[in-house]
Amino acid sequence: MRRLLGAHVSTAGGLQNSIFNAQYLKINAAQIHPSAPQRWITKDLDPGKIEEMIKAHKKYPDLKVVFAHAIYLINLANPDKQKFHLSKMAVVVYLNFMHYVNTVAPKFSSDLKIGGVVVHPGSAKHTNNADEAISLVQKGLNWILENSEGGTVLLETTAGAGQVIGDTFEELARLRQNSIEPERVKFCIDTQHMWASGYNLIDDLEKIVKNLDKTLGLENVLLIHLNDSATELGSHKDRHANLGEGTIGLKGLARFINHPALKHIPVVLEVPGLKSLETAKEQVEILYKIAED
Ligand SMILES: [Zn+2]
Repeated sequence: MRRLLGAHVSTAGGLQNSIFNAQYLKINAAQIHPSAPQRWITKDLDPGKIEEMIKAHKKYPDLKVVFAHAIYLINLANPDKQKFHLSKMAVVVYLNFMHYVNTVAPKFSSDLKIGGVVVHPGSAKHTNNADEAISLVQKGLNWILENSEGGTVLLETTAGAGQVIGDTFEELARLRQNSIEPERVKFCIDTQHMWASGYNLIDDLEKIVKNLDKTLGLENVLLIHLNDSATELGSHKDRHANLGEGTIGLKGLARFINHPALKHIPVVLEVPGLKSLETAKEQVEILYKIAED
């Protein structure tokens, strides 16, 4: 099978439009926000709307996998009871969405698959105490696993801005190990976030790959977010740049995704150029050009 490569695409106007956007970009992997990322969501998505997406997929079966990115408001380390609950529910709703698509799609003779729900664990800014924050995230994660119908959480490596949790592989690995269902907790690694957290993808590539395998387990890394960085190595700032326009550079990014140990992992872009379909197409073309088969 061809390598799974693609980009984050918009669902504006309906979930089915993400399929048409992917078709326009000619990608076989995509990522979406199933609902508005700046708004809380506590109720399951409308099955009728999901079915529109599944039906649209029959017109573009080349799209092999779609990842769902959780809303931006989530902070599983927020001690405020209401915000903590809303954060957990927002992940549950997306896991249920994943479960629903993966179960129902075959009934429409579609092989549309949701590959996971990408979640940023949260920030200790409210507790000002890293241990307390991590134990809240752990509690939240377990509640989410217990109260959802299925699906896989992909914990994402973060840039480590402020008191954000998840800027080391070890921290993410512990969240998985201490969860009630580790088989439903996997990982997404983001090149810009790793770079900003101080992982030197250019000089220390071999060391980083070994470390990834030792801590997260390469078999548990289900997604790569490929982004160049608008900030320096170790900046702890989450600022994505277009491929080849940042401090990692095209060569460093290409070496990373073509590393023999990482080559099987789907790659999606989250670069500023995705804002319009025309510039998105340019970025996707660069990705397809640098990725070896
Ligand atoms: Zn990312």
